Amino acid sequence: SAALLVGLGACSATRSGSAGGSSSGAMEKGATIGISMPTKSMERWNKDGKNLRTKLEKAGYKVILSYADDKPSQQNADIENMVNNNAKIIVVAAKDGTSVGPAVEKAHEAGAKVIAYDRLIMNTEAVDYYATFQLEQVGVLQAKYIIDKLGLEKGAKGPFNMEVFTGSPDDNNAKFFFKGAWELLQPYFKSGVLKSISNHGGGVDGNFTLDKWQSISVMSWKTAQTQTDMESILDSSYAHGEKLDAVLTPNDDLAQGVINAIQTKRPDMKPGTDSWPVITGQDANEIAVANISQDLQSMTVFKDVAKLADAVYEMVVQLAEGKDVSGLNGSMNNGVVDVKSKLLDPLTLEKSNLTEVVKANFITQERFDELTK
Ligand code: BGC
Repeated sequence: SAALLVGLGACSATRSGSAGGSSSGAMEKGATIGISMPTKSMERWNKDGKNLRTKLEKAGYKVILSYADDKPSQQNADIENMVNNNAKIIVVAAKDGTSVGPAVEKAHEAGAKVIAYDRLIMNTEAVDYYATFQLEQVGVLQAKYIIDKLGLEKGAKGPFNMEVFTGSPDDNNAKFFFKGAWELLQPYFKSGVLKSISNHGGGVDGNFTLDKWQSISVMSWKTAQTQTDMESILDSSYAHGEKLDAVLTPNDDLAQGVINAIQTKRPDMKPGTDSWPVITGQDANEIAVANISQDLQSMTVFKDVAKLADAVYEMVVQLAEGKDVSGLNGSMNNGVVDVKSKLLDPLTLEKSNLTEVVKANFITQERFDELTK
């Protein structure tokens, strides 16, 4: 309708800054907000979607929440549906950061604002803001943990056998997690203190460069695929009692696959003893909390997704009220533009501080007790 177009026009004036943050760009009360999540199959996105929807609905917004079943075409259809239903702001956690471009471009053409949630939307101008956790810092925490546990800074010479995995090849985050980790680990691969004795990904050694990160990736962060890959690593290179000292796994889903593979192929490796490798993770999934309490997984990087939902909620409200978004503390380049960003801090969780998830209300005490008994 004409009234809608006038309203949206005012919104985009605010975006370019000319409305001076006055309320003239405000959307009508109870505006529709779209939330497009990548998949229901992983614990975190269910939490993320629910957190944000609850907050927005409480504040009187109408919410369309969709899950794309890890299919880029489904996600694009979901976003188009939001546009057709007059969504004024669309929050997107991309399944595939590049494939989602055309859908958010349509959203922009219709006058909607686009917020990239956790994962950056690549190679398009049609993304207004981004909120995530410090991506490289996740990898830094994982690598530091391994370096510390193997005593590398204290001069331990090894050589230590280590295998390396990265996340989904279509997820921009996966590259940054690995970047943070690899910058710290590569010198030890160069000096020969760390060694990958398998030929995983064509071989990871001191000359392995960041641009090859997809050769050791796992599509859609799947546990089952990771298990298959790890089993073939164990079959090819650890079938005769070779020691495995550490596995860099970027998140809890992959860590679970590695654990399953070790339990299947190397029952002689015993958790809680020196025969069990250091295994890293991310997300503080329930299963990881249980695994850490049983010494199956060594650590996880805790990203309190309720805080991420809070940050995005603040963005949505400010945009809906026609204000400038405040509290931003960085920007991330998506190949075309620098996207103004809110970057939150991740935290290392290990057995000794596992109860942080309870203190943060991330997991209830009751559930925590069940998981760790
Ligand atoms: C997220 C991680 C998550 C992974 C798989 C990434 O984009 O940042 O927290 O483990 O996707 O869902």
